[in-house]
This record gives sequence, C-alpha cells and structure tokens, in this order.
Amino acid sequence: MTLPADLPVVDHHCHLSPGGEGVAAARRFERAGGTHLFVTTHNWNHRPLRTVEDYRVQFEEMEALTRHVRAETHLGTSLVIAPYPVDLLRLSEDLGLGPAGEVHAQALDLAGRWVAEHRAVALGEVGRPHFPVPPEVARLVESILEHAFEVARDQSCPVVVHSEDLSSEGYAELADLARRVGLPTERVVKHYARSRQSQERRAGVTPSFLARRELVRDVLPDPAPWFLETDFLDDLGRPGAVLDIATVPKRAAWIAREQPDLVERLRIPFVESVTRVYGFQPEGPAGRPT
Ligand SMILES: [Zn+2]
Repeated sequence: MTLPADLPVVDHHCHLSPGGEGVAAARRFERAGGTHLFVTTHNWNHRPLRTVEDYRVQFEEMEALTRHVRAETHLGTSLVIAPYPVDLLRLSEDLGLGPAGEVHAQALDLAGRWVAEHRAVALGEVGRPHFPVPPEVARLVESILEHAFEVARDQSCPVVVHSEDLSSEGYAELADLARRVGLPTERVVKHYARSRQSQERRAGVTPSFLARRELVRDVLPDPAPWFLETDFLDDLGRPGAVLDIATVPKRAAWIAREQPDLVERLRIPFVESVTRVYGFQPEGPAGRPT
C-alpha cells in the first residue's frame, strides 16, 4: 500500500544550517516522500550570540534559508525561533547573569514579534540544559523559560521545549508552569521525546517523538496531539548524531507497507495535531514522487 494521496508528511523538528547540507537536505526529505518541515533555529556558529542584533541576524539567515528551500522544492516550511537555551550559560559567564538574561529575554520578545508578523509559527527551542548547572544559573534559566511561556501566551502560539527525557513528573512540572503563566498546556510541546508516556501521564503537554521505528509503532495508537521528528542537526561535523532528515517519510512508508490498516493513524501527527496545536493545516503532497 502507498500513502494516501492527500496525506502530508511532516517532520515536526529539524535544523538546517547555512553552512551545512541546507537545501540539499530538504531535497532528500522531499525525495523520500516528505512534504512539510518545521525548521528550528539553533546556534550553528558554535560561539554564543552576544546581542539581540546577533539574534535578529540569525533569525533572518534562517528565514532566508527556508525561503530558498521553498523556491527549490515543493515543500512547505514553518519557522520556529528562539535564542538557543544552552547559549545562556556561556553568555552569562561572559557578560554576567543579569545582562545575559536581558539579551535572552529581549531575543524572545523579538521572536514573539516575528510570530505576530507570521514570519514564525512558534518559539523554540527553549528550555533547560540537560546537565547540572550552579543554582544561580538554574534560577536564571527558569526565569527565561517562564518568560518564553509568557511570550507564547501573549502571541497565542506554541512553545517548543528542549529538556531531558521526561517522566510523568517532568511533564507535570511543565504543565504547572504553563498553568501558572496562563498558557494552554497543549501548546507546550516537549520535543525530542524518546519514550512513550501515556496520555494521562503527559499532563496535557504535547510530545514530539523521535521517529525511531519502535517508538513510532508504540505511539501510533495514541490520541492527538503528538508529533514525529528527527531533530536532524545539519552539522557536517557530526553526521549520524541524530536521525537523518529522510527518517519521518521513511517511517510513514514503512507503516503503509507493514501495517496498512494503521496508515490513517498518521493523520494524527501530520494533520490533526498541527491543526490543533499550531492552528493551520499543512498541505498535502504537491510533488511527491510516485
Ligand atoms: Zn533540536
């Protein structure tokens, strides 16, 4: 069985870099049967950005790259932007905690304005480092995370959170923060989810699952909303560090082949969840190779 002709195939979280494979990676995604990429900024410079202006430049480079992807392919793209959270640590060593926090808060405000102008669809990635940090740094990280949630609330957009793999307590904690700020929990997206937590254990937070074969099979029966992603890094120095960008379409084709009765379940991550969490419907394939 092949995929239904009207089914979009969406990677909900990947990165593209101006100095990486870039458009060629997007072409590989398209050739494998993909139709829509959520492209998230990250820091490809390997040095901390120091000013809001630096972030504006980074966002614009990202926007130019996705424009290029759309010109060269039939893909749809959605931009997700924020100051990369791990950069806050190095920046606070350079500038001090207060000024570093100010740069990140203002960069989040800038990202919020881009959402308001429909140049981006969500804030991300935001979150916590996945390694221990001193308590005063942890407090700053938390206050910046809370600010990100506030900006998302004000723009009525999702916020894509980077964190360690979450237990039910971890999901509950994110949901608490969302409730405290007044952001609907469903708009909090936990990206790079590597294990299935049942819907009851996710506290209303939306998971974006890494598209590993076993995990896809596990989560397919779950009700919306949830996504599939690769977290493709587009870093030529670290090939194979994460899943390849062609993975989500390959998994979709695999489901069609091996479990054709479950193919319609793919509308949950590719259509229903996008509509529910982001408020738009990704287009079906325009140029999918047959
Ligand atoms: Zn990522």
